[in-house]
Formats: sequence, structure tokens, C-alpha cells
Amino acid sequence: HTDSRVHMVTLEDVRSFLKKPSKFSHKGVMGRTMLICGSSGKMGACVIAARAALRSGAGLLTCYVPAVGENIIQTAVPEAMALVSTFQDYHVEEVDFKGMDAVGIGPGLGTEDQTEMALRKWIKQLEVPAVIDADGLNMISSRPDILKHVPEGTIFTPHPKEFSRLAGEAEDSFKRLEMARNYAKKYKVIIVLKGAYTAVCDTEGSVYFNSTGNPGMATGGSGDALTGIITSLLGQGYTPKRAAIVGVFVHGLAGDEAAEDLGCISMTATDIIDYLPDAFRHVE
Ligand code: AMP
Ligand code: MG
Repeated sequence: HTDSRVHMVTLEDVRSFLKKPSKFSHKGVMGRTMLICGSSGKMGACVIAARAALRSGAGLLTCYVPAVGENIIQTAVPEAMALVSTFQDYHVEEVDFKGMDAVGIGPGLGTEDQTEMALRKWIKQLEVPAVIDADGLNMISSRPDILKHVPEGTIFTPHPKEFSRLAGEAEDSFKRLEMARNYAKKYKVIIVLKGAYTAVCDTEGSVYFNSTGNPGMATGGSGDALTGIITSLLGQGYTPKRAAIVGVFVHGLAGDEAAEDLGCISMTATDIIDYLPDAFRHVE
């Protein structure tokens, strides 16, 4: 039995979705993107997301980081601007998203009570397309009332464990996929259910399966890179659904090219980022 709402994403699909910069592009039209990431001991997640965003074409990138992360992000990612919290270890401030084209929230964020209060404000004030990942999702799981403020079309990128915190345990992966589809429809969010065949579930009940990627990507930071990529594409004007589909495909393709040269055992999340240029050129 075939379900017309289930699709396998092909290279041709992604190629047809890809936006190419025009001769007259300038950094302002390539997306003003913000990442709210990192905390004490987890600044690497922010560095990885930021590098991946830049390698995916972000025009202007700002990383909102706790004070502990200022030197780290400015040294590791000199192309990014830093917006620095008055707190040493975590994010507490409200953020003005005016002038931003997209925001990514979550990698390495931590789940401090004060950060959770800040998250509530960020989500209430979101007027830009957003990706929520990792601790951003974990905080929503522990305070589900935040969900009602999440704007329609926001992208959630849970791995299976994060998804079970959001929606409950699933008996098996088929059940989990059905739960993700229902969750996406119910809350009008795009669920990127990560794994060996990452599934993008849209708000209408359709599912888009990805075919790229390999077990070498089961390594710390891999998902943080994906958040940077998808946020970057959102900032460049891709619709949320296309940003998710293209981002997941290119992330997996970069991982496949990294694995071919370096092997599944040795490759790291930074290697995935290093192979993003090859992946984008392959799709172009
Ligand atoms: P995270 O757990 O947040 O670091 O995300 C891991 C990333 O690596 C996701 O994008 C997964 O889809 C990808 N990944 C992990 N394991 C595999 C695998 N066996 N095959 C393909 N992709 C994988
Ligand atoms: Mg992750």
C-alpha cells in the first residue's frame, strides 16, 4: 500500500530547491542569522553550529553567548559577531529579533531555570523563522506550556531521545514516526526526526525521508552542525520545509564525503562542516 504523503527525497529534488546567489547578492540579502547556543563547558556546540551556518551561506551571523563564551566564539569563528550575556555561564536576557531573518536556539544551551525563563520570552517574541534543537527542545519538554507560543512552521530537530521527551516513549521506530507526524500536525511545527533515515514531517501530515548520511555521523556535534545549516538556509529565505529538507540532505551528503576520505570511525562533526563545500557543489 502506498501513502502519497510519504516521499523519498532525491538529489534532483534538492537541486531544484537550491537557491543560488545572484551576481548582485550582498551579505544583507544572504541572511541575518542568529544562533542562541553554548554554555559553560558546551561552547563547542555553538562553534560547530556557527561554522556550519557560515559554510551554508549565512550572510551575517550573530552568536548570542554567555560571557564565558565570548573569547571562544570570537577566536574560533572570527566571521561571527558576538552578543554577550551579562551572566558568566548562561543566557538570561531578552533578545530583539528585529532585523534578523532566522534564529537557531538550543545546541549546548543548558537547561538552567533562568535560561528557561529567557527561552519563554524568546519564543513569545519570535517574529522570525526558527529552528529549535537540543536543550531548547529539552526545556520545552519539561515546560510544555511553552509550546502554545511556538509560531507555526517552527522547525524542531530532535534525535529519538529528545523526541521521546517531547512526545513520550515509542515502542519502535514506526510508532515513533507516526507520533512525529501527529505531533507536527497538532502543533503546526516541522519535526526533523533525526536518525539513520531522518524524516522531515510537515504540518500537513507529509513525510520526507532522507537518504544521505552514515553511522560515522553518530558523533558529538553532528546535530549541532545540522542546526547551523538549517538556520542558515532559513535566513536565506528558504521556506521552513525546504530549509529542513535541503539542510538534512546536504548535512548527510557532507557526512558521506567525509566518511569516504576519512572513514566512519575517525570522522568528526568538524569534518562534516569541512566537507559542506563539496556537498553544496555536488548539489548545485
Ligand atoms: P545529534 O544526536 O543531535 O548529534 O544528531 C546526530 C546527527 O547525525 C543527526 O543529523 C543524525 O541524522 C545523524 N546520524 C546519526 N547516526 C546516523 C546514522 N547511523 N546514519 C545516518 N545519520 C546519522
Ligand atoms: Mg544534538
